[in-house]
Amino acid sequence: MSLLQKFERYSLTFGPTPIEYLPRLSSALGGKVKIFAKRDDCNSGLAMGGNKLRKLEYIVPDAIAAGADTLVSIGGVQSNHTRMVAATAAKIGMKCVVVQEKWVSHHDAAYDRVGNILMTRLMGADSRLVDAGFDIGVRQSWEDAIASVTDAGGKPYAIPAGASEHKYGGLGYVGFAEEVAEQEDALGFRFDYIITCVVTGSTQAGMIVGFAAQGRAERVIGIDASGTLEQTRAQVRRIVDHTATLVELGRTVREDEIVINPDYAYPAYGVPSDETNAAIRLAARTEAMITDPVYEGKSMQGLIALTREGFFPENSRILYAHLGGAPAINGYSSYYKDG
Ligand code: PLP
Repeated sequence: MSLLQKFERYSLTFGPTPIEYLPRLSSALGGKVKIFAKRDDCNSGLAMGGNKLRKLEYIVPDAIAAGADTLVSIGGVQSNHTRMVAATAAKIGMKCVVVQEKWVSHHDAAYDRVGNILMTRLMGADSRLVDAGFDIGVRQSWEDAIASVTDAGGKPYAIPAGASEHKYGGLGYVGFAEEVAEQEDALGFRFDYIITCVVTGSTQAGMIVGFAAQGRAERVIGIDASGTLEQTRAQVRRIVDHTATLVELGRTVREDEIVINPDYAYPAYGVPSDETNAAIRLAARTEAMITDPVYEGKSMQGLIALTREGFFPENSRILYAHLGGAPAINGYSSYYKDG
């Protein structure tokens, strides 16, 4: 029985996302393991989709029940999350205010004009650029945005960065774990490892709780892209504990079930290393799978490095969770002008 049975869900996605075998990437990495991708980047027709929609499906019913008329959230200038909140607001007929902070030290001329922020504006969101730097926690600018909606006579509904430290933020990826188990039944095998990018935490935290119910949470390897490991790990821990209680997992998740690898976040959040860019190119050239320099390129880099160094036993089946994020690549054209 699903751990999510008692929770209301507002559908924003197409349904279960495909699992795709990546034969050319697998063989480019030596052919000793089989790499698959779960395509959450293709999960919806809403403004190119991505991981936030799984989370927002469990948050929207609460926003509607609260009588809200404006979704308020926060992220970086090229935030996928604020694009997804803007899309959700447009789809359910609410207004949207998003605070976009300078999380990234990156100076592509069109950085604040293209990709995610372009679509966010196009969907009618009030996008407010502010100067603050990277921080996944609660910010003053966000509190100010919420107050500004109330002051104007509106009814705000606050969604924190990445929809992570929201009371229902972890539920969507509990559903991911259940979906994977069902797909494995149909495929006739189990994955040995699941690779996911982690920054604000609720994606991996939800997976951990969902896979903990199946006794294999430690097989979820979070590749940190925040560069602030302690803060991200503490946030994952909090969301795991809260979500485990919410879904009545029936036990405390152990520390060793929370696996986060910090080795690929360099040089900083939102800035790709040469190795990140090499990983992005390899996935694009072997599988036409587009990953971005902020999130998925870093988890792809981790997957590639761990495979090459023999971390995964021979014949392992590895599931790479592709969480979306490709629109941000438009803000990084200087890296890829020659491919
Ligand atoms: N991948 C993409 C494309 C994202 O937009 C995000 C959002 O932060 C993540 C990965 C990381 O997920 P989380 O913030 O839930 O840790």
